[in-house]
Amino acid sequence: MSFPTPFEIPFDTSLLLIGGEWRSATTGATLMLGNPSDGSDLAPIARGAAADIDAAVAAAQAALDGPWGRCTAAERGRVLGTMSRKVLENVDLLAHLEALDVGKPLKQGRADAVALARYLEFYGGAADKVHGATLPFQAGFTALTLREPHGVTGHIVPWNYPMQIVGRSVGAALAMGNACVLKPAEEACLTVLAFARIALDCGLPAGALNVVTGLGEEAGAALAAHPQVRHISFTGSVATGALVQAAAAKNAVPVTLELGGKSPQIVFADADLDAALPSLVNAGIQNAGQTCSAASRVLVERAVFVEVRERMAERYRALRVGAALGDPDIGPVISQRQQRVVEHYLAMARDSGLRIAAQAVLPPDLPAGGHYVAPTLFDDVPADHALAQQEIFGPVQVLIAFDGEAQALALANGTAFGLVAGVWTRDGARQMRMAHALKCGQVFVNNYGAGGGVELPFGGVKLSGHGREKGFEALYGFSTLKTVAMFHG
Ligand code: NAD
Repeated sequence: MSFPTPFEIPFDTSLLLIGGEWRSATTGATLMLGNPSDGSDLAPIARGAAADIDAAVAAAQAALDGPWGRCTAAERGRVLGTMSRKVLENVDLLAHLEALDVGKPLKQGRADAVALARYLEFYGGAADKVHGATLPFQAGFTALTLREPHGVTGHIVPWNYPMQIVGRSVGAALAMGNACVLKPAEEACLTVLAFARIALDCGLPAGALNVVTGLGEEAGAALAAHPQVRHISFTGSVATGALVQAAAAKNAVPVTLELGGKSPQIVFADADLDAALPSLVNAGIQNAGQTCSAASRVLVERAVFVEVRERMAERYRALRVGAALGDPDIGPVISQRQQRVVEHYLAMARDSGLRIAAQAVLPPDLPAGGHYVAPTLFDDVPADHALAQQEIFGPVQVLIAFDGEAQALALANGTAFGLVAGVWTRDGARQMRMAHALKCGQVFVNNYGAGGGVELPFGGVKLSGHGREKGFEALYGFSTLKTVAMFHG
């Protein structure tokens, strides 16, 4: 489907969703979203704050005490299924909104919308298939476990993949019968607001999903610290994750933290390089590198290092950078602030004499004011350099040469993060050894990312966070277990 140019956003973006009603922030204040492709003002959003979070939490609790709380698991599953189909009908609209708001190429926005639909389908189907157990116990007793919702759940979402992250966390939380208060990032809210409209159209009862836009330090902090919120799911930076965890700890509230990484792809000399090559580049710079599981480090066994470098370099030189609605390979980064962060790392690399293996060329006709950075591949970077250790969140990858399996493992595990890792080798025994020894939440063998893998539990260790989303595992995280021991003699 194509949309007229200029594309008009088909709803009022400046409203919060509380208890099934669209309303302004209590203070009436708004913030302005920007278009990363040209730096222009895009649309106002409500600047929700503590009073709005209070209202949203109260509305969520009322939904739990009312129609939403009385829904059977099968009914919840059916609503999620309807939402999934409605999202699929709106893939093009959602992709256009994401292009304007996040600077995401249309094909990536479409993929995110399809992933959102798939999460809703998966969790809709799973809603009535999660159950407790009967336990062998002492004579005269029947003992069993009941799996129950936490109650009101808080969802703090970043700007890089709003649709996918809402799908995996809100989808699972609703399936288990929780009522959600969702705080999207102040940089990008449009697809979250559109999704909430879709949910209401599909018959999701009022208050089961509430959306409060606003600043992290206002609305986000109020949600994390709210005493009636019983679970928090957070995706974003390490520093903010620590604040959220500390705030929730005061109320003894469990937190799932997904905080990004510095994930490696490890290429052994026996790997099928033809199969690996597209993934070595794409998984590093997709979404302009703003992906928590971006493969920002490429570790290559020395015997094939030059070949891998040259073949990756060729791909870099062919990358098309441009405005998101033109559906380029790489769009802008989200904001001027993020652009400066990436440029800071590029300057640091220059100052320390790192060699550039390849850099994409920025076309001269890019829209002025857009937040563009040239995708850059660095050649054999020292493993302790900041570019090889820190999450840049831009289209920057580092190559690192290694000799043998032990060194590959030491390098792969040698950062403060542990989100995912990819291993490329034909040696089956080595595949298993690496899978066991890598310190991270997901290992991909002869692939990277498994196409998103809605069914596959996802999350990190070390500074990449804790708790698991996606797959069935998320349903356990978004519920609590009650044990019942009945004495009947
Ligand atoms: P951030 O952690 O500041 O923001 C993520 C979310 O947290 C947003 O919704 C924000 O409004 C909210 N937030 C901010 N301050 C808060 C607070 N005090 N209490 C509660 N919520 C709060 O991330 P950012 O500023 O958008 O990005 C900074 C860095 O974080 C990036 O450069 C990147 O390294 C990392 N990041 C990681 C991911 C990921 O998927 N792991 C996503 C986005 C950003």
